Amino acid sequence: MSIRLFSLVLLFFSFSARLCGQTLSKKLNNTTSYTIVIHGGAGVMHALSKDASKRKVYKKALLHAITIGDSILENGGSSLDAVEKTIRYMEDNPLFNAGRGAVYSSKGINELDASIMSGINCKAGAVGGVTIVKHPISAARAVMEKTKHVLLVTKGAEEFAKNAGLEIVPKTYFQTRKRNSYKGKTELDLPDKWGTVGCVALDKSGHLAAGTSTGGLSGKKWGRIGDSPIIGAGTYADDKSCAVSCTGIGEFFIRYSIAFDISARMKYKHISLEESATEVIRELTDNKGSGGIIAVDNKGNFTFRFNTPGMFRAYSKNGQKEVFIFK
Ligand code: ASP
Repeated sequence: MSIRLFSLVLLFFSFSARLCGQTLSKKLNNTTSYTIVIHGGAGVMHALSKDASKRKVYKKALLHAITIGDSILENGGSSLDAVEKTIRYMEDNPLFNAGRGAVYSSKGINELDASIMSGINCKAGAVGGVTIVKHPISAARAVMEKTKHVLLVTKGAEEFAKNAGLEIVPKTYFQTRKRNSYKGKTELDLPDKWGTVGCVALDKSGHLAAGTSTGGLSGKKWGRIGDSPIIGAGTYADDKSCAVSCTGIGEFFIRYSIAFDISARMKYKHISLEESATEVIRELTDNKGSGGIIAVDNKGNFTFRFNTPGMFRAYSKNGQKEVFIFK
């Protein structure tokens, strides 16, 4: 090989090593340990702070959700499977603002957003504004795995999901009794709203994944897309740094690229996940944004950060689980 060709090859590899994910398909972390973290939304939670039995119901649901992902990871499953399956359960549970039980848009319908991302080469998929797809997180995964695109929205996303064999349900399926009383109200009428769901995981092979699913903000304008299906805003995963899922007023998370920023600061500033997340949430707060994040890095360190009184959250590290609501 000529010296020139050799330097070109060298240049290519040093450049690709700086790109997202594991471009050289090399494991960064070959261990037998795993970590999974979930959130069920952040908010004021006035009503909940006074109601112990309701808190118990939420904690039970969070424990159930984390156990789903935990057993997949414990048995050597992928972080992507753990994230998708855990979120599917939360989409099925009307306690959360995702899938069944989602909040209403100003048109009185449930417009659902979701995204998923793999830390391996930063593959990602997302759907926005879907109204008949039972599991938006699985539609997001199908976009990632079966198309060359990242984000499909509304009717196109619904037709794609149908053709991909995903379960389609009538619009009324999402309208649970509890949320019906909210119909027609706006975000300002509902200071106690919460419930977007998210999951981040590190599997035993050292691969990260993140996913987020939501009905968005209640009373949102018809056609509004939040941060949850926007890669880099509500969701991000890169095996070279961390996996992040966000919840809160989505417009701030989009404008400040919150999920990507946490990963980028780790890479560019060589700081820890904890330091990076703390900086990003401090700046979010300074800029009047509200909400929170969950994140795990490629060594299994994890963090929760939020500037609201509460955030539904749980983690499991090698099977050791804990569930929290308030600070
Ligand atoms: N971030 C979501 C959105 O703006 C809402 C939430 O997390 O509560 O659509």
